[in-house]
Amino acid sequence: MARTSFVAGNWKMNTNKATAVELAKAVAKGAPTRVDVGVAPPFVYLHAVGQALAGSKVLLGAQDVYFEKNGAFTGEISVEMLKDLGVRFCLTGHSERRHVIGESSALVARKAEAVYAGGLILIHCVGEKLEQRDANQTLQVVQAQLNELSRKMDDPARMVIAYEPVWAIGTGRNATDQQAQEVHAFIRQTLGTMWNKDYADRVRIQYGGSMKPENAKSLTSQTDVDGGLIGGAALKADAFLAIVNAAK
Ligand code: PEP
Repeated sequence: MARTSFVAGNWKMNTNKATAVELAKAVAKGAPTRVDVGVAPPFVYLHAVGQALAGSKVLLGAQDVYFEKNGAFTGEISVEMLKDLGVRFCLTGHSERRHVIGESSALVARKAEAVYAGGLILIHCVGEKLEQRDANQTLQVVQAQLNELSRKMDDPARMVIAYEPVWAIGTGRNATDQQAQEVHAFIRQTLGTMWNKDYADRVRIQYGGSMKPENAKSLTSQTDVDGGLIGGAALKADAFLAIVNAAK
């Protein structure tokens, strides 16, 4: 099954308005059409980045969302508000939201449900901590995080899984090609039992965790690796575009 690779940049709490626009313009200018490309700036720069991307194929994304539609939820942002700004995809379950901000699995599941129900592309992040890998619990942890997804999410074109081992995020220590492929194959197999094989074959599974131009080619050439979710290296247009161009 030929899947179009998808490389997305997660800018986290970085950039300012001027550098966000500059970065977005450079990505829009250099992105090839062969691969799906997206950027997720901080909420406050979504509007400006959306304008900078206008006319390009680069997808605008959000790093987070709240599951309620509207109301008394101070500081929160709904799916409809994101769509109003032209957002096309949204992350859920990023390790920093799970382990730094302290989001529970139940909250992550409600957010994923809201993103999907709202018609956006969902990038659902899964991945084990170092102590879980050392205790041979990787597949169990990933399985539990996949179980946050609802069987009602029946369009594989809007379902993306990002495998991001927590120990590889922002550490400079990426998973080996074999470690990534092993977990990606497990994810695809699990999606096959949750939905069916055809569905699983269509879902893009991104790798994330210290992906950079030097390791992007070998990681993304693994059978079940369909692009990447990029943190640090997404903040420099040259590095990000090199990763995009390395994707199969
Ligand atoms: C991420 O936070 O999603 C990520 C993969 O970060 P980095 O590329 O910096 O490891």
